[in-house]
Amino acid sequence: MPDTRLIRAFLEPRHAAFAGQAGEFAEREIASRPHAGDDTTARREARAILAKLGGGGWLRPIFDLDLRACCLMREALGEASPLADAVFALQGLGTTPILLGGSAEQKERWLGPIAAGEVMTAFAMTESEAGSDVSGIATTARRDEQGYVLNGAKTLISNAGIADLYVVFASTDRSKGSKGISCFLVPRDTPGFRFAGAQVMSAPHPLGELAFEGCRVPADAMLGAEGRGYGLGLAALDRLRPTVAAAACGMAARALAESLAHVKRRHQFGKPLAHFQLVQQKLARTATDLAAARLLTYRAAYEKDQGQERITAEAAMAKSFATEMAQRAVDDAVQLIGGRGVLADHPVDHLYRAVRALRIYEGTTEIQQLIIAGDLLK
Ligand SMILES: Cc1cc2nc3c(=O)[nH]c(=O)nc-3n(C[C@H](O)[C@H](O)[C@H](O)COP(=O)(O)OP(=O)(O)OC[C@H]3O[C@@H](n4cnc5c(N)ncnc54)[C@H](O)[C@@H]3O)c2cc1C
Repeated sequence: MPDTRLIRAFLEPRHAAFAGQAGEFAEREIASRPHAGDDTTARREARAILAKLGGGGWLRPIFDLDLRACCLMREALGEASPLADAVFALQGLGTTPILLGGSAEQKERWLGPIAAGEVMTAFAMTESEAGSDVSGIATTARRDEQGYVLNGAKTLISNAGIADLYVVFASTDRSKGSKGISCFLVPRDTPGFRFAGAQVMSAPHPLGELAFEGCRVPADAMLGAEGRGYGLGLAALDRLRPTVAAAACGMAARALAESLAHVKRRHQFGKPLAHFQLVQQKLARTATDLAAARLLTYRAAYEKDQGQERITAEAAMAKSFATEMAQRAVDDAVQLIGGRGVLADHPVDHLYRAVRALRIYEGTTEIQQLIIAGDLLK
């Protein structure tokens, strides 16, 4: 459960109550669910979790644009189940471009069913030749008298194959680079659009490839104006990066809790592991790094909630620091737990496999560092 004492300077009174409720929900209804051991189960489980989140009103912070509440939710879910955290995160990533750039009709049509967890979203930006450098997007959207025709392929897309609505980035004018990228809403049953196959991760996380082959969408499927898709995508990522940091903090908190329980229980050389100073050093480092990461995370979310237009550098600091910290924290937990920590059914092994992707998706650590340095040098 997210501990709000450290971060109270960044929260409103309602957030403390929400953190408690979110933590209880995650412990009671999410942590108790069986671990999804394979991709097919993970895909089914992701839909079931979305129904639970939507049915219980837990997706509300996304629609209220309450970034601190989104962070508290991801911290609670990250601690209970990285898969449930990903389900919440992807619903946020797919919805935010609609909230920021959608027309009244688009919002009217989609936001209700998305909030209820009936419509699952996906955010389709990455391509085989456009990863960190999104300006290289080669999927095209050609205008004709009836709308747009999309051609191209996407890779490494979360919720691919199980989402109902895809937010797709495509170039309407390749000569303009990033200024020629537009954003489209593509429902799953659109002719010419297909799920091109699963990409199976070592942690349960529905991921896959998409193909657009003469995929026709009406002109009003465009989100925002032509050529504004890149800005919309970056604005969504900017807003949501602190929530990746929050998920990392949740995973690190779980790793620390597992370590603490283990070192108090486990005896070697005639005393509990907790009595050895080399063990204590690991615990102290994780606790300190986790506190620092949480302060960076809620600082970034607070600035956004206060109305700061861009939190690019603050979000980049939070994301890079917290995800690197969580990787170390989980690795230390495996080390402290020893051989049992690498067995496939141990919670720290689940964390070990889940935490790695956080340093890569929504902008790698190196890209965050470039953003921070760019801000310093401008
Ligand atoms: C689990 C998971 C889920 C994902 N979900 C989605 C999704 O839902 N939608 C979506 O669109 N994408 C998604 N992605 C893709 C993700 O956003 C990309 O993997 C990420 O942006 C990095 O791109 P890349 O993998 O092509 O790596 P590359 O861009 O090829 O980078 C490879 C390495 O080079 C480094 N590098 C690149 N450029 C520089 C530079 N200028 N200076 C220094 N180092 C550099 C990177 O930091 C990295 O270490 C997901 C990825 C993962 C792992």
